Amino acid sequence: MSSGLVHTAYILAAVFFILSLAGLSKQKTARLGNYYGMAGMSIALIATIFSQGYEGLIWTVIAMLIGGTIGIKYTKKVEMTKIPELVAILHSFVGMAAILVGYNNYILLQEEYITQTEQVIHLVEIFLAIFIGSITFSGSLVAFGKLREILSSKPLNIPYKHIWNIAALLISIFLLFQFIETGTNWKVLILTTTTLISLAFGYHLVASIGGADMPVVISMLNSYSGWAAAATGFMLQNNLLIITGALVGSSGAILSYIMCKAMNRSFISVISGGFGQIQTIDSDSTIGKYYTTDIENVTKTLINSKSIIIVPGYGMAVAQAQYPVYEMTEKLRARNIDVKFAIHPVAGRLPGHMNVLLAEAKVPYDLVFEMDEINHKLSKTDTVLVIGANDTVNPAALEEENSLIAGMPVLKVWHARNVIILKRSMNTGYAGIQNKLFFKENTAMLFGDAKDNIEAISQTLSNRKN
Ligand code: NDP
Repeated sequence: MSSGLVHTAYILAAVFFILSLAGLSKQKTARLGNYYGMAGMSIALIATIFSQGYEGLIWTVIAMLIGGTIGIKYTKKVEMTKIPELVAILHSFVGMAAILVGYNNYILLQEEYITQTEQVIHLVEIFLAIFIGSITFSGSLVAFGKLREILSSKPLNIPYKHIWNIAALLISIFLLFQFIETGTNWKVLILTTTTLISLAFGYHLVASIGGADMPVVISMLNSYSGWAAAATGFMLQNNLLIITGALVGSSGAILSYIMCKAMNRSFISVISGGFGQIQTIDSDSTIGKYYTTDIENVTKTLINSKSIIIVPGYGMAVAQAQYPVYEMTEKLRARNIDVKFAIHPVAGRLPGHMNVLLAEAKVPYDLVFEMDEINHKLSKTDTVLVIGANDTVNPAALEEENSLIAGMPVLKVWHARNVIILKRSMNTGYAGIQNKLFFKENTAMLFGDAKDNIEAISQTLSNRKN
């Protein structure tokens, strides 16, 4: 392929990537957005493989076959609740790729004949790619560990944590200048030291962030992986990789900013590893007495309500209760009861998780309300049914200054006349803190798997004549 044709293909691929982002921004066009992304990536791959001077077709095909087979095998099996973990591990691959390409470029640089200025630019590119790549790699692995619950979701609070972060940054800047200035023998040592420091930096940045702020961390790492790819693009002098990296980097940064606003968090605080965050004491897990209820009583309460708001959370996704929930909703609506759904922006484990589940179960859009649209209606509601939600309905966010989730907007379900909580035990939610809602006088706990309990309520509704 001539270089003109390759560049045309790259521009076309870039247009597809932009269309893909636009498509992904709305639920209705998200599928189309994915197809645009696939088309863009196919064009980019074909153009790169057939560009002039490209070597190693066999290796590329072998790598694609192995990677593709592993990718298809695992992603087909992944449940929706595990997608954030998958995304986190994939981000770590981008980080690792940037590190490997960085070292590879450094080794090749020795053999190339380039001018002094070009060499400085190239050294800076290599250094930055390894620096950003290492932060992305270790940060993503920690995020994966936290999401998989291999690592604690609580924030790591080592003494003088911000000083350590600033020191890592300053030392890295110093090493960058040394990397450009010193002789070849020292360069490898500097690069290795930088890799180790930035790996530790990435680990610390993400480990310092508490469970409830993980949605922001994931989109932030998405952004970092974009910048790592852009830095790799500069090293490889590949314009498409620069464009794609910048698109991913900036869209991830915008998403992080939106998520921070939705959760009332400081963007700077989160991206700098919880800088300025309140050091917290967890709520006591033995807050007091709580009330339990059963299927018969819950059904009675529902039938006697004029208005019901259903608040789904991560537990509904785990139990895959969305289908019986919709079935139960239809039975209640047939009894002229007003039923609505209230969605918290970070309910579940991925942005828009609850919207996707409800859409999957074919719940009509006009029954589904975002938190800001419905919060003021909760005080006029007879019954709220909380299905597997916990942190997103925790009053501690508004009432306890020292709580891990202090300041995060929550659904004020306790303002309703009756609150029924469906979960399996008194265990905490993702942030690892106890929920005072469960101990309020107007709240009753219906223990058990959400799907089993909703099916039982639905069955009881059918069996009752009035
Ligand atoms: P939580 O994670 O706070 O709580 C979910 C609850 O569901 C648990 O307390 C659990 O209690 C219950 N549960 C689990 N399985 C079942 C089941 N089979 N049947 C019934 N109940 C079940 O959920 P929320 O949705 O309220 O909040 C989401 C949390 O995740 C927030 O802290 C958010 O910041 C964080 N997060 C969100 C992301 C996003 O992008 N949306 C990404 C990463 C983290 P029990 O064990 O007793 O059953």
